[in-house]
Amino acid sequence: MTGKTVFYNNEELSTRRLRCWKCQELLTPADIETYLVCPYCNAQLERCADTEDFAIEPLVQQWISRYPAMQPDNRGRA
Ligand SMILES: [Zn+2]
Repeated sequence: MTGKTVFYNNEELSTRRLRCWKCQELLTPADIETYLVCPYCNAQLERCADTEDFAIEPLVQQWISRYPAMQPDNRGRA
């Protein structure tokens, strides 16, 4: 059984967190990148485009940082 996946935007850190549907812990992409399983309670997270995008987001950001021309208007810096 899996529950609804909920994402939270953390404006201060410019990062997203995923809230575990079972134990309510806030997870980072590194927590779930391999298996989409909560490291706190071993709950299987919903596998969908959103969770997979979330899990690989650091890799995408790393890739973008190597190619400044691809950055969308240097957003996130007020
Ligand atoms: Zn959990």
